[in-house]
Amino acid sequence: MSDKKFYIRKNFKFHASHAVKIHGAFENQHGHTFFASITYTGNKNEDGIIVDFQELERFIQREILSSIDKTDLNKSFQNPTTENIAEFIWSRAENFASGITLYEVMVCEDEESCVFIRRQDKNG
Ligand SMILES: [Zn+2]
Repeated sequence: MSDKKFYIRKNFKFHASHAVKIHGAFENQHGHTFFASITYTGNKNEDGIIVDFQELERFIQREILSSIDKTDLNKSFQNPTTENIAEFIWSRAENFASGITLYEVMVCEDEESCVFIRRQDKNG
């Protein structure tokens, strides 16, 4: 048995506006092209793949982007911080498929500012 582990990552973008509440006050409404990624870990199947990228793309479109792309995020989040958006994506992404494990969700407001959530394993 080797120690290597397979990961699969899908990157995607969405356009949305938000006004984040910081110290009790909402900032001005503004837009971003958010960059996001979802990473799973799993084993290759008999076809030599972990999951079909196209199947994952359709899932992301249906379960995630349809709720947030080209929207005012303040209508669906009490406080649409990048952290809260990442948590929403995590909760949806967990339901993708059995046999693979959600490992990481990352959301970036721009090239410089990203949040990510990563599964913590007991054994690292
Ligand atoms: Zn912002």
